Amino acid sequence: MDIEFKNIVDTLKATKSITRDQFAYLLEKDGEDNREYLFEAAREVAEQVFHKEVYLRGLIEFTNYCKNNCYYCGIRCGNANADRYRLTEEEILSCCDRGEKLGFKTFVLQGGEDPFYTDEKICSLVRKIKAAHPSCAVTLSIGEKSYDSYRKYFESGADRYLLRHETANEEHYSKLHPESMSGAERKQCLRNLKEIGFQVGCGIMVGTPFQTLDNIYEDILFMQELQPHMIGIGPFIPHKDTPFRDEPEGSVEITLRLLSILRLLFPKVLLPATTALGTADAIGREKGILAGANVMMPNLSPVKVRDKYLLYDGKICTGEEAAECNQCMRRRVEHIGFHVADTRGDHPDFVN
Ligand code: SAH
Repeated sequence: MDIEFKNIVDTLKATKSITRDQFAYLLEKDGEDNREYLFEAAREVAEQVFHKEVYLRGLIEFTNYCKNNCYYCGIRCGNANADRYRLTEEEILSCCDRGEKLGFKTFVLQGGEDPFYTDEKICSLVRKIKAAHPSCAVTLSIGEKSYDSYRKYFESGADRYLLRHETANEEHYSKLHPESMSGAERKQCLRNLKEIGFQVGCGIMVGTPFQTLDNIYEDILFMQELQPHMIGIGPFIPHKDTPFRDEPEGSVEITLRLLSILRLLFPKVLLPATTALGTADAIGREKGILAGANVMMPNLSPVKVRDKYLLYDGKICTGEEAAECNQCMRRRVEHIGFHVADTRGDHPDFVN
């Protein structure tokens, strides 16, 4: 094995810090021994904190209407080919009922930025879910809102909020989004969410157009400042009806190495092996867990809308019932020697 590679991994593990050049080395240096050493170090740290448990989150994609026009995303408002849908409150609540029977203790409500779901509607929904499932956590992932809106969601009982920052570099951000959106605003939303008291998740896509290694290093610096409770990363995958249709897919290898580096930098962080990783590689999510991830997010959305929430082409699990998705996920976890937790799976600092 390459001695320098090993030294960098050992130093990263011991100090929980990494320089830009060390980071570049870990992402770029090839060699099976090297990558395996990195993955193993990350796995060990994950095991110390999470004891080979994987946390499952039931994902409910409740609307694909969106007022934004992000260049990478298949449900951008400019995509006239998207077949739009909204789940009713009853449909969402029945997804949660089904989810709890399947053993999920977290429901993630994700959607485009859909003005139909006013704060009142979101708060009422959160209150109803928490009343029906008091032992479950509710995660929202509905984009950028005002401080006041976030506070109302929190007061209604929402526990967590996912908002990927997409890229910490504002120039890069402006190449992925229309002028109406700003990277500064996005990062401010995350700081607000943290201040309000949510368990907060940020994150990026790996291999978006124009992304440089220095951009990703800046993402790490931003995460060190924010200290998120969760970090969602997955490869960028092009969607045929977006301006980025002809751009290459992000690298699974870089995603896996980055997962490991993040695990070593943030031992306690919740780190999903994402659907995009499972789309880019048939066993990508398993590889993610073996590289230090500890969360998976099976789809709980009703089958009739599954193939409409298409952020990118080729998305997996669009045909299965929730029960099948759940079984498949549990099988995958056990197959690699891990087991599914039966707790809510909060960040370790939030467990009383
Ligand atoms: N409207 C919500 C939810 C967005 S979808 C919000 O703004 O947070 C969740 C994530 O999917 C996005 O944050 C983005 O990182 C990812 N995503 C979108 N398009 C993608 C693509 N083409 N390839 C891979 N991931 C994508």
